[in-house]
Amino acid sequence: MGLMTKQHVKRFWPLGLLILILILAWWPGKPIYLHVATQIEAERIAAITPDQGAAQTPERLSIDRMMTDLHWLAHEDRAGRFPGTEGGLAARQYIVDRFAELGLIPAGSDGYLHAFDHPGVEDAANVLGTIIGSNPELPKIVITAHYDHLGVRGDRIFYGSDDNASGTAALLEIARYFSENQPTHTLLFAAVDSEEHGLLGARALFRTGHLNPDDIAFNVNMDMLSRDTDALLFAVGTYHHPWLRGLVQRVQRESGARIVMAHDRPWWRAGRTDDWTLSSDHGAFHEVGIPFIYFGVADHPDYHSPRDTSDRADVDFFRITAETSLSFIKLIDQVLAEK
Ligand SMILES: [Zn+2]
Repeated sequence: MGLMTKQHVKRFWPLGLLILILILAWWPGKPIYLHVATQIEAERIAAITPDQGAAQTPERLSIDRMMTDLHWLAHEDRAGRFPGTEGGLAARQYIVDRFAELGLIPAGSDGYLHAFDHPGVEDAANVLGTIIGSNPELPKIVITAHYDHLGVRGDRIFYGSDDNASGTAALLEIARYFSENQPTHTLLFAAVDSEEHGLLGARALFRTGHLNPDDIAFNVNMDMLSRDTDALLFAVGTYHHPWLRGLVQRVQRESGARIVMAHDRPWWRAGRTDDWTLSSDHGAFHEVGIPFIYFGVADHPDYHSPRDTSDRADVDFFRITAETSLSFIKLIDQVLAEK
């Protein structure tokens, strides 16, 4: 064997890259590397932060209904909606009743419910309902938001208003919108359980074979939509699927939120900047190869604390983030149908 030829380089560069990554993972200078990568990522994110957002955001959803749902789901009687508890089961029934009222077609294994095994919880279940599209031959688009939260710890209730009564309330109102405005793809609305326990509910959709990845074109996930940290809304997933960038930019034109596409790069590109690729239910879809976008706000001081209460929701901003999610769903429904 002689020196490395061009062909060798071509053939072995993935191996070289792997070795480089392994060296970077273990070498003593890693902290410095991470520090620099974090800085570069921070500058990149700062540079892509868009302007103040559009002056007008469409008004298709009822913020009054969403706030009523938000207050109800995050009420102290729900006691933080821990899976299988009285509060968790009441929240589940609330969603079931709404799906029925809106005329969604039951899509669980037992009516709207899709029960799954959860070690330590007797009764964990996702709530699933569909709205049939005008072209039902197309694969489905799945809209997800988790309805569980942390429950009670010691004598303190973790209300889980932003996380994720907000996404659940948005999902219910978006389901109402599409029950009156037929989409092209069939939409599967999935209020999932046990996200806080390692995406257990979302992963169970595939692990149990209840959903087949081949039947699904896309996932839009909503988790934490109601807190305004400088009007920032993150759109996660475009690193994995760059073709989504243009769609997010189109949505930005009619969104009062400042949408930032970030939090999806691996550590070796982004340093210590959190990678949220697997940090909410979209992760379960990503794992089985389904493209996704995740909308959520920046981590705030009340995140996973007893202070995440519904009186702290930023009502105007919540309206905007829910409308932005709807704009994206409408756009992806249209764009994938044209493909
Ligand atoms: Zn969450």
